[in-house]
Amino acid sequence: MRYIEPHAHMVSRVTDDYATMAAAGCRAICEPAFWAGFDRSSVDGFFDYFCQLTEHEPRRAAQFGLPHFCWLCLNPKEAENLTLAEEVLAIIPSFLDRPNVLGIGEIGLNKNSRHEVAVLEKHIDLAVRHRQMILIHTPHLEDKWKGTRLILDCLKQNPGVDPSRVIIDHVEEHTVDLVLDAGFWAGITLYPTSKCSPARAIDMIEIYGTQRLWLNCACDWGQSDPLAVPKTALEMKRRGHSETAIDRLIYQNPRRFLGQNPKFRIDETACENPSDAAEK
Ligand SMILES: [Zn+2]
Repeated sequence: MRYIEPHAHMVSRVTDDYATMAAAGCRAICEPAFWAGFDRSSVDGFFDYFCQLTEHEPRRAAQFGLPHFCWLCLNPKEAENLTLAEEVLAIIPSFLDRPNVLGIGEIGLNKNSRHEVAVLEKHIDLAVRHRQMILIHTPHLEDKWKGTRLILDCLKQNPGVDPSRVIIDHVEEHTVDLVLDAGFWAGITLYPTSKCSPARAIDMIEIYGTQRLWLNCACDWGQSDPLAVPKTALEMKRRGHSETAIDRLIYQNPRRFLGQNPKFRIDETACENPSDAAEK
């Protein structure tokens, strides 16, 4: 089995997780910027975090042969302080040329507040001006449907947004069709306690297909499982999905989406179909 983990917060995981993921068939890891579990008190905290994501973490992953990529932003949980948000937005462009930076993310909404929407719009504008791809976080539980609608409105309002270069993550049964119908990519997050179980994810895949979908574990400092993607692949196999269909979902789909950024390169021995490789 081979797979790409397109959403993992490795800065809060132990090094053994890299070893375990590599052994399970992981070929690359992507790490969106997120909330640290506490509010950072100044822009300097973000500067150091962006250095960690672009310098230190790729070196840690490389020990296990894993290419490490990242996305940069201020998390919606930290958007209430507009002065700090402006300061962080101002330093992001200086990091965008770094070799493992894929785009702006994970931006989005948490409580669907006015300030969160304002900071989301600023991030979208920044991404468009710098021709960056976008990774979106959608709110949890009862805020998810409304938040997803608000996020889609913000994206549609900006004429520079190309939906094929935006992924909206943490979709569930009641939001996946909103996202796909609007032409965006959708991410399903597998979590032991909240978000999606493997069974629910596979139900959605069977209903909506896998054209513009990826799976991720979004492992972080909370209760989460860095092996959620390969475990779900085993469950797909048990339910009769072919090896080809599983490979398309957990390896080729993330490669197709992320490969829209020429910086996303992984070991091409893993790429067997030349026409597939020439796609982007
Ligand atoms: Zn995340």
